[in-house]
Amino acid sequence: MLETLNKIRTQVVSDLETVQSTAELEALQVKALGKKGELTALLKSLGKLPQEERPAMGAAINEARKALQERIDLRAQELKRKERDEALRREAIDVTEPRKLPEIGTAHPITIVMNEMIECFTGMGFEVLQGSEVELEYYNFELMNIPKNHPARDAQDTLYIDDNIVLRTHTSPMQARVMLARKPPIRIVCPGRVYRADELDASHSPVFHQMEGLVVDEHISMADLRGTLDAFAKHIYGADVNIRFRPSFFPFTEPSAEVDLTCSNCKGTGCKVCKGTGWIEILGSGMVNPKVLDMCGIDSQKYSGFAFGIGLDRIAMGRFAIPDMRLLFEGDARLLSQLR
Ligand SMILES: [Zn+2]
Repeated sequence: MLETLNKIRTQVVSDLETVQSTAELEALQVKALGKKGELTALLKSLGKLPQEERPAMGAAINEARKALQERIDLRAQELKRKERDEALRREAIDVTEPRKLPEIGTAHPITIVMNEMIECFTGMGFEVLQGSEVELEYYNFELMNIPKNHPARDAQDTLYIDDNIVLRTHTSPMQARVMLARKPPIRIVCPGRVYRADELDASHSPVFHQMEGLVVDEHISMADLRGTLDAFAKHIYGADVNIRFRPSFFPFTEPSAEVDLTCSNCKGTGCKVCKGTGWIEILGSGMVNPKVLDMCGIDSQKYSGFAFGIGLDRIAMGRFAIPDMRLLFEGDARLLSQLR
């Protein structure tokens, strides 16, 4: 029996070296010292021994149990420390590791250009108004001195909602609405979307953006228009650019002028972008037609005014060297991310 005890003891001690987790250790403890364990079984079999041998054998078993329990406790502490260290290593956070930056959005080129213009014109005392994109034909055409059957209606391929309602073809209807509602002095800009029945290609879109400007007061002259647009051009493009006026025709202004800007690509020496002229057309303008003033209830004998309409898409394309108008409407984040 002593031999069995020693065998058990040796086996447990060697097993202790190989257990690698507290779970394995518990299993070993149960097997050796548990209620149904090997030592308990040995104790129970003491009765088979002769009476005189029992006390010594019982003491030996109890001594072995105590010694083994101590070694098991020691091993348990080792394993717990080891497992805690492993967990700490596994769950450690490397605070020096570079983090992934969040995706940051950016304003659309048209928004950037529009905001700069608004800042420029509000700095000159203009008020910013937003008109309706769905407009009565009367405001879009009649009050802009474009009566029915006027050829200018053909020039603007109009999208009709019904007989009297259109998607505005320009931001000019706000001119009429403001003049009908207010008395001079009037100084407004009106940025927004406009619509024409155009096919989408590199330089046309059925929806594009304009900013309308209108000034009405006593003694407003073409010189005021020129000075305002010159200040605008220099604010947006820099002090070294110039503008020039070319005679043109719009039904709602008289006289009318197309306004060109020094080509930003060649600084006026002539290149492919400006088709060799050194100038880029950026807007249409003129003195408000006295007929329009009168139709809108403003005395054309006493007051005069100027108006202009700027194409924001073309300006954004020039400013950010965007070669195709369709890119402005595709919402591709890769295009926008380059503008940061
Ligand atoms: Zn050029």
